[in-house]
Amino acid sequence: MAGLYFHIPFCRRRCTYCDFYFVTNGALIERFLNALETEVHARADLFSDEAVSTIYFGGGTPSMLSAKQLDCILSLIQKKFRLDSDLELTLEANPEDLIESLLQDYSHVGINRLSIGTQAFSDDKLKLLSREHTAAESIVSVERAHRWFKNVSLDLIFGTEGETLSDWQRELELAASLSPEHISAYSLTVEPFTPLSKLIARGKRTRPSDSLQTEMFLLTMEFLDAHGFEHYEVSNYARSGFRSRHNSSYWQRIPYLGFGPSAHSFFRQGGNEIRSANQRSLNRYLETPTDAHDFREVLSDLDRFNETVLLSLRQREGLALELLRKNFNFAALHFGALSQIVADFERDGLMTTEHETIKLTRKGFTLADTIASEFFITQHQQLNDATCAS
Ligand code: SF4
Repeated sequence: MAGLYFHIPFCRRRCTYCDFYFVTNGALIERFLNALETEVHARADLFSDEAVSTIYFGGGTPSMLSAKQLDCILSLIQKKFRLDSDLELTLEANPEDLIESLLQDYSHVGINRLSIGTQAFSDDKLKLLSREHTAAESIVSVERAHRWFKNVSLDLIFGTEGETLSDWQRELELAASLSPEHISAYSLTVEPFTPLSKLIARGKRTRPSDSLQTEMFLLTMEFLDAHGFEHYEVSNYARSGFRSRHNSSYWQRIPYLGFGPSAHSFFRQGGNEIRSANQRSLNRYLETPTDAHDFREVLSDLDRFNETVLLSLRQREGLALELLRKNFNFAALHFGALSQIVADFERDGLMTTEHETIKLTRKGFTLADTIASEFFITQHQQLNDATCAS
């Protein structure tokens, strides 16, 4: 089982909070597609032994591509990879692009899951985020998408300036009333070098309040659970049978190849696990699409241990301690300390243990990454273990 990710690095304009890689020069799309084809030809062999079960077009704004352009990429994928019959094929789309004929064409070329960047159902909030669409377009796009797709996901953002808990509850009510199969809800984060971070530095915007965002996150978990959505990962909620299989593969450490500028990959080669990423530069990508690497890293046992802890704790299924013991012999010396950390988090209501599997509570999910980091083993600790054992 494996996945493919295609980064479509074009947007019409920049949203203030965004730190994804994109350019606003849509005239380069055709040249980009040619470069993408070259990269696929050069790297497809990495998956000669894998069957691809999920494909994801992310961005950027993949809905700036026509169905014909997508069809070309899909034909190439069919030639170069072995595809599962039960393929999940997701496309991220912006609400303002989703006119009826485009939706129809996307469904005809094989897209079977649509992830719509609604973000909000309030015009004021959309303006603050510098989104191009209106609240009315958010609503209409979801209604329209359901005429062509059985699997529709919404992206929502909470914690923008001036937003209250009851504003957010109203947005959740509106989102649920549109009956999406899946919702991704993210707290607004201020990433360095974004227009939002500069506006905050100049005093023109206020930094989101951590405590209010925590309350909003707790409300999201309660509300969506009460409305039939399973909370299966920190920011993701699905009706039964509609989890994102592609994104789940990231958290389950299933291999995937990423194509396009800034795209990341995770794959196994010669007994090693490798993570790599392409550079965040379209120009560089257009010049040398087969050599656009930013980094390529072979994971150590320590990396694999820490990744497993972090990614497992982010999921509803939690972290199976037995699996950790079985797969990471080198960490045996740490299991005593680990049990003590678990006991402390249980006492604080952040974690529960069921059948040797530790899981975060709702309160725990609001601190997921911080909690996971308490379980990490550092290189320094590992060196100390080696010295003590010798
Ligand atoms: S549309 Fe998406 S990728 Fe493009 S700038 Fe806005 S948030 Fe970023």
